[in-house]
Amino acid sequence: MSLPRLVFATRNPGKVKEIADLLSGHFEVIGLDEIGCMEDIPETSDTIEGNAIQKAEYVKRHYGVDCFADDTGLEVDALGGAPGVYTARYGGPQKDAEANMTQLLGALEGRADRGAQFRTVIALTGAEGTRTFEGICRGNIAESRSGADGFGYDPVFKPAGEKRTFAEMPSHEKNAISHRGMAVRAMVSELRAHR
Ligand code: IMP
Repeated sequence: MSLPRLVFATRNPGKVKEIADLLSGHFEVIGLDEIGCMEDIPETSDTIEGNAIQKAEYVKRHYGVDCFADDTGLEVDALGGAPGVYTARYGGPQKDAEANMTQLLGALEGRADRGAQFRTVIALTGAEGTRTFEGICRGNIAESRSGADGFGYDPVFKPAGEKRTFAEMPSHEKNAISHRGMAVRAMVSELRAHR
C-alpha cells in the first residue's frame, strides 16, 4: 500500500531528508521541487506563525496537496523581541548571515542583558484545517562569534546552560535541544498518532 504524501514547503534537501526519516513508514515526505513548485512562495505576514501558515496554505491551494511549512525567528529580550519576523533580513535585504550577526552584535554592544530565544512555528494543512506546532530554544547572545558549524546566527547563540554556541556543537546535539527539533517532534508525534 502506498503511503500518504506530505509536502514540506522547502527547497532544502537536507531538511526534507531529516523529516522524511522521522516519518518513514507513516508518510512519504517530498519537497517543493518534486511537485513542480518553482516560484517563490509569498511570505508577507508580520508574524512568524502567519508566514508559516501562509506558505503551507499557498501550497495546499495551488497544488492540492497536504503540506507543512516552517518559519523561524530570533527574539532578543533587550530588543523587545526583535528581529523576530525580520530575522533573515536584519542586516539588509541580501539576507546575509555575516551582516545579520554584525547588526545584532552592534545592537547589543555594551548591554548586559543578552537573553534571547529562537522560535520556530510549523504549520500543517490537512483535512481538519491548519494546525501549528511551536518550538522554543532559550539562550543568550554571545559577545562575539565562535564556532564554524551550523548556519545563520549559530556562531552568536549560546543555548541556556551551555558554554558553547550552536556553531560549536555537533548537529545531533543541536537538533536534540533546538527550536526546530522541538517543533518537528511535536508535529511528528501528532502525525504518527493518527497513522
Ligand atoms: P528560516 O525561517 O528557516 O528561513 O529562518 C529565518 C532566519 O533565522 C534566517 O536568517 C536563518 O538563518 C535564521 N535561523 C533559523 N534557524 C536557525 C538556527 O537554528 N540557527 C541559526 N540561525 C537560524
